[in-house]
Amino acid sequence: EIVLEAIKLRKTYSNGELKVEALKNIDLTIYKGEMLAIMGASGSGKSTLLNLIGALDAPSDGTIKIKNRIISNYHKEPYATQYRSEYIGFIFQDYNLLKDLTVEENLALPLILMNKDSKTIKEEVGKYIDLVGLGGKEKVRPYKLSGGQQQRVAIARALITNPPLLLADEPTGNLDYQTSEEILNIIKDLQEALDQSIVIVTHDPQVATFADRVLFIHNGKIVNEYVKKAKAGDI
Ligand code: ADP
Ligand code: ADP
Repeated sequence: EIVLEAIKLRKTYSNGELKVEALKNIDLTIYKGEMLAIMGASGSGKSTLLNLIGALDAPSDGTIKIKNRIISNYHKEPYATQYRSEYIGFIFQDYNLLKDLTVEENLALPLILMNKDSKTIKEEVGKYIDLVGLGGKEKVRPYKLSGGQQQRVAIARALITNPPLLLADEPTGNLDYQTSEEILNIIKDLQEALDQSIVIVTHDPQVATFADRVLFIHNGKIVNEYVKKAKAGDI
C-alpha cells in the first residue's frame, strides 16, 4: 500500500539573479508501515524535500499524492493547515513543545484543535503518554524534562491525531548517542505497534540502522537506495 507518491519533483529557489536547483526530478514512493531514512550532506536538499511533502513549501514542478489525493497545490491556506492536520505528524530537532503547557496539555492541543470531545481527549492523551513511557509526567512542563523526555512528548503529540505519515527532521540532532538510541527504539516500537509510515531526514548514521530503507540524496538528486526490509508487498 502506497501512502505517498512524489513524481518528478523539482524545487528551484531564486535569489534575484541567482537560481538554486535544490531538487532535480525527484521520484519517491513511501509505503504503509515503513521507516524511510533520507540521508545526505548539508545542502543536498533534505529539508527542501521534507518541506514539500509536509506542504510547508510549494514545488516548482511535479506532483505529490498522499493516499491518491494530489496535494502539491496545498501549500496555500487554508488547505496547507488542513492537509497537515489530517495527514502529517511532525517532529523536529528542537522538539517545538509549548513551554507554558504541561505534558498532557501539549498532547491535548492537536485534539482540541480537531474539536474532539473531552472524554476522547482524556483517553487518547493517557494512551499516548503510556506509549512513549511518560507515565507520571502528565503535569510537568517541558523545561523540567530531559531532552530525550521532551522528544518523547513531541513524538506522542505528532502521532496522537493518527496521521498516515510521520515526518521527522533530525530528531536525534540534539541528543547524545545513548538517548538517540532510546528515542529511535521508541519510534521503531511505535512504527510496529501502529503500522506507522515514517520519513526521517538526517545525517546521523545511527538513524539508518533503524530504517527499513535508506535513500541517499546528493545535489538535489537521489543517488542511491539501500533496502533492508521491503514494505512494497508484491511489487
Ligand atoms: P539540507 O536540508 O540537505 O541541508 P536544504 O534543502 O536545506 O538542504 O538546501 C538545499 C539547497 O537549497 C542548498 O543549496 C540551500 O542553500 C538552498 N536553499 C534552501 N532553502 C532555500 C531558500 N529558502 N532560498 C534559497 N536557497 C535555499
Ligand atoms: P536543516 O538544518 O534542517 O538543513 P536549514 O537550517 O538548512 O535546515 O534550513 C532551515 C529552514 O531555512 C528551512 O525551512 C529552509 O528551507 C530555510 N533555508 C535554508 N537555506 C535558506 C536560504 N539560503 N535562504 C532562505 N531560507 C533558507
